[in-house]
Amino acid sequence: MEETPVNLHDLTRNELRLLFARWGLATVHADTVWNRLYLGLATAITEKEMPGLPPRILNRLAAGARLTSPGVALATDSTDGFTRKYLLALEDGRKIETVLMRYSGRVTACVSSQAGCAMGCVFCATGQMGFTRHLAAGEIVAQAVHVARALRGAEAPSEHRLRNIVLMGMGEPLHNYDAVMRAVDILRDPAGLALAAERITLSTVGVVPGILRLARERQPLHLAVSLHAATQEGRAALIPGARRWPIDELMAACRTYSESTGRRIFYEWTLIAGRNDSPEEARELGRLLRGLPAQVNLIPLNPTGGYEGEPSRAEPVRRFQSVLREEFGLPCTVRQRRGIDIAAGCGQLAVNAA
Ligand code: SAH
Ligand code: SF4
Repeated sequence: MEETPVNLHDLTRNELRLLFARWGLATVHADTVWNRLYLGLATAITEKEMPGLPPRILNRLAAGARLTSPGVALATDSTDGFTRKYLLALEDGRKIETVLMRYSGRVTACVSSQAGCAMGCVFCATGQMGFTRHLAAGEIVAQAVHVARALRGAEAPSEHRLRNIVLMGMGEPLHNYDAVMRAVDILRDPAGLALAAERITLSTVGVVPGILRLARERQPLHLAVSLHAATQEGRAALIPGARRWPIDELMAACRTYSESTGRRIFYEWTLIAGRNDSPEEARELGRLLRGLPAQVNLIPLNPTGGYEGEPSRAEPVRRFQSVLREEFGLPCTVRQRRGIDIAAGCGQLAVNAA
């Protein structure tokens, strides 16, 4: 039977070694391949991209494995130069978004976990397009490799090395748990991209079983939970996919997560003018988070074609923030909307290019 060529980015280092062992090849060659994949940032199984491998090893690898680097369908820079957004084409032609951000001296890659999303958040461009498919671990890893390659030519490489990952692109990462965690393991490998777990943030819309699983497995990542409303009714209206998880269960899961990992959670709140930006709503949120280790991130809405809401204006944003800070003692930041001119809101580039 013909073997299906495995995608090298799907494998952990140990699995790559086992593959070589199965092929009857010395594992030292597997280590060289790993080095070329994650230090050399290879994009193909060729002598040029994977130097130093004996030809018979390279041939065996080319016959039994594949390496797929997504093609760039579109790359756009924000006018302020802080954000570069890629629309990447996968093997099957599906398009996903990956964003390279440079804020306050830090380089961060924002990666997608699914093509589309099943949660249907009304204000989100990805939610508006619906769910297409999960990404494989290798397709998540390849996005980070793509960004790392883009940085490689930078003038001061050490400062511009990829150190931070946010799983905040298209899709709901906890709806694709296994592939996401496999990708995280590969990204963290100390002999590879070596990303520190505390520099990886996973953002979820609140998939309760996934949060509990993160807690059980004590995954060392940072967790962000998108709330947008502090009542079940309010959340159900903005996030149709969250109807199945009552907000009490969600907050109980968050509590369990913080207790078992000792970590505080970032709570995200997309601010929509006249919809969820009043001081009363800030108080509801403050009460909901009382006693939990929490930090709130406010994100003024990025307008999308499929939703008529508008971003909150500066004054309501400031008031919302000061209620949380002053009345509830909650740390609360407002995410700057850099890159808005390139439609840097999740899924917006894919929609515009369609
Ligand atoms: N599915 C995950 C992660 C991807 S979305 C989640 O929902 O958390 C990442 C963040 O971007 C979420 O907090 C989401 O609410 C926010 N977001 C999506 N579309 C937006 C828009 N048009 N304007 C502002 N924030 C948006
Ligand atoms: Fe999916 Fe997140 Fe967009 Fe909601 S905000 S539709 S969960 S990607």
